[in-house]
Amino acid sequence: MTPSPRLLLTIDYESWFAPSRRYDFLPPETRYQLDGERSRHALDPILEIFDDSKVTFYLVGEMVGWFPELPEKISKAGHEVGFHCHIHRRLNDAKEIEKDLIASSDWIQQYNARGYRAPMINTVEEVYPLLARHNFTYSSSQYAPAGVTVDKGGVWEIPVSTLPLLSTPTRFTAPRHMNLKLVTGGEFPYGSSFTSGLFRRTVYKIIERDLKAGKSPVIFLHPYEIVTPKGYPQNFIVDMIHHPLLFPFTFNKSKFLKDLLKNFPASTMQDYVNEL
Ligand SMILES: [Zn+2]
Repeated sequence: MTPSPRLLLTIDYESWFAPSRRYDFLPPETRYQLDGERSRHALDPILEIFDDSKVTFYLVGEMVGWFPELPEKISKAGHEVGFHCHIHRRLNDAKEIEKDLIASSDWIQQYNARGYRAPMINTVEEVYPLLARHNFTYSSSQYAPAGVTVDKGGVWEIPVSTLPLLSTPTRFTAPRHMNLKLVTGGEFPYGSSFTSGLFRRTVYKIIERDLKAGKSPVIFLHPYEIVTPKGYPQNFIVDMIHHPLLFPFTFNKSKFLKDLLKNFPASTMQDYVNEL
């Protein structure tokens, strides 16, 4: 069955430094200090923006350890709590992915988190049987055209949306992440906040068009793109100088978000998956 079209708005709830790989292997205590409670303070104003629209938050597990009220408040407000790995870093080995998952298993069970979003939307095919074993119902860890849903042996893959400009791809094997191959293959990855940072109007129009065509676009934003953290993006400048492609992640997209919520129906990913 094709669910009625809606915007599948998702928030990858990670700290302001997560787009840079420079912090991945620091001691957890150092990352906690770098966050400086910014992720805790961002949640209430973000929840206020959503009001009656229900969306999906993928949480970084170590942050749930820092601020246990994050999943509590999100779930109490009627949104979906999903999993965005325990420590935010590249995970491309099944054993590492499982270890990471087990590190967060307590709160995953407590909040009945059934959706998985791989860091950097970059995963491997082995992730699907592993998610099935751990009772996840779906993953959103590839890029693919809006409307694509792939049954991966009992776990759905609901990709972050692209717009195919050349031919429409037919094979959806992980990894399908944002790289030159994806873009030169003719896919415009409009679901990424990198893209909405650079081409806000265009992305808005594509969402409108895909919804009219009966598709349900999957897009993601980050908390630091909705509520600008204290001292940001100044404290991210060294990272941006080394990697100018990080720049669009630092733009505030709260107006874009409000426009979307005002004009399009939204639902959680799990509600969508239940209708498949
Ligand atoms: Zn992330």
